[in-house]
Amino acid sequence: MKYIVALDQGTTSSRAVVFDENGALVASHGIEFRQIYPKPGWVEHDPEDIYESQLNALRAAVEKAGIDAADILAVGIANQRETALLWERETGRPLHNAIVWQCRRTAPLVERLKEDGLGNTIRDRTGLIPDAYFSGTKLEWLLDSIDGARDRAQNGELCFGTVDSFLAYRLTGGRAHVTDATNASRTMLFNIHKQEWDEVLLRAMDIPAPLLPTVVDSSGVIGMLDKSILGREVPIAAMAGDQHAALYGQACFGPGEAKNTYGTGCFVLMNTGARPVRSQFGLLSTVAWRVNGKPTYALEGSVFVAGAAIQWLRDEMKLISTAAESETLARSLADNGGVYLVPAFTGMGAPYWDMYARGTIVGLTRGAGRAHIVRAALESIAYQSADVLEAMEKDGGVRMAALRVDGGASANEFLMQFQSDILGVPVVTPQVTETTALGAAMLAGRAVGLWDDNRLKTVWQRKKEFRPTMPGENRERLLQQWRRAIERARKWEEE
Ligand code: ADP
Repeated sequence: MKYIVALDQGTTSSRAVVFDENGALVASHGIEFRQIYPKPGWVEHDPEDIYESQLNALRAAVEKAGIDAADILAVGIANQRETALLWERETGRPLHNAIVWQCRRTAPLVERLKEDGLGNTIRDRTGLIPDAYFSGTKLEWLLDSIDGARDRAQNGELCFGTVDSFLAYRLTGGRAHVTDATNASRTMLFNIHKQEWDEVLLRAMDIPAPLLPTVVDSSGVIGMLDKSILGREVPIAAMAGDQHAALYGQACFGPGEAKNTYGTGCFVLMNTGARPVRSQFGLLSTVAWRVNGKPTYALEGSVFVAGAAIQWLRDEMKLISTAAESETLARSLADNGGVYLVPAFTGMGAPYWDMYARGTIVGLTRGAGRAHIVRAALESIAYQSADVLEAMEKDGGVRMAALRVDGGASANEFLMQFQSDILGVPVVTPQVTETTALGAAMLAGRAVGLWDDNRLKTVWQRKKEFRPTMPGENRERLLQQWRRAIERARKWEEE
């Protein structure tokens, strides 16, 4: 038996997952690491924590699997996206903590870009909406803040990279300074049409080109795992941002195929094929993956509050004691009793984009009880996801045939059935729920010739399918009421 190992370097933990040549999960190991909050709104990681935890997770997973390094065909990397690192080319020594995607410190730099009239240029060329999440202004901040960094960068002494790039550099013993097209597409510096770093944007953020990694395919050997790590060299054969890897790991290979990850928030990605789509609804356009030099694109949208609404019911409202209890309570009712909950705790994202919206419960009667509130919270996760998916279908001019799902809250079968009913399409759960790791493994397995494109379709296996059973008129009625509830939540906070 041969194996592929996926590294899933996430925001709070580093995981390694061993898959066998049939795509079955053999062993996994995860290690949490430190979150650093130097000031309100600032988030950092120690690059050495990232690397050490990832290395230890890799060794532990290989040990748990009880396999020989000689039987590992390849390693694939999936990673937290947009997090920015700067290190010395010669020594690999980081010059600063990693600035994590969540960090808001560069909001003023983004405002300046917008004031300079670059908003549309950024949207057109990068597919992104100018925001401090993306790496570009984080790198600008690093170059501004570290003495002499810009000059050293100009002289080729420094390397910039996102987490994929940093791991690749370290794992190859400093031999590769690369990033893949999906990670590049999250920097706000990369032209997703031309597939190259954008000179206008580099100039706008005062970023010297010699600093930048070479952009490579998401599937392809970028170098060898240094011999010191597992005792022998192993090809590193894939790199992709975590959401992109998950889309691949859900085998959403064709236009209109989509996945939704139900976690704290929801991450929705839909494959739009060979062309990037400019969204009318404030969705992001991104590189889904690049294989054989050919980019496939995706639309991306998120729901800010999804599983977090269930946490809120549990921790603040004390209406439930576990997240799983929400399912029993929701099922205790025949219908929602006319109660709707809009969890706009932090405003509303796509397709509404209203930062003044706030959480609302409407339709209460004397008969409404805790089960109604809980059910309304679960239903809100499905409605919000449906709103994003509908916008994607309109933008992309495609009709979704089915939705593939993963993430903690996809364990809730009431929610999955309701999601299917509201969308009017099947909702499908996979055998391997670690879709991010599986996607990295699939991209790597493809690169080393273990799986061809046909075989990849069968590496992904269905676990359960929820089919729509709700009559169309009920669905229309619920959606109409949901939209009315949204109107009540909008523009609540005064500007
Ligand atoms: P993240 O990766 O964002 O931390 P996870 O994928 O681990 O999230 O999912 C955890 C989230 O899913 C939590 O917000 C939790 O409230 C929610 N969740 C977990 N199980 C259930 C369930 N059975 N029903 C509803 N929500 C759930």
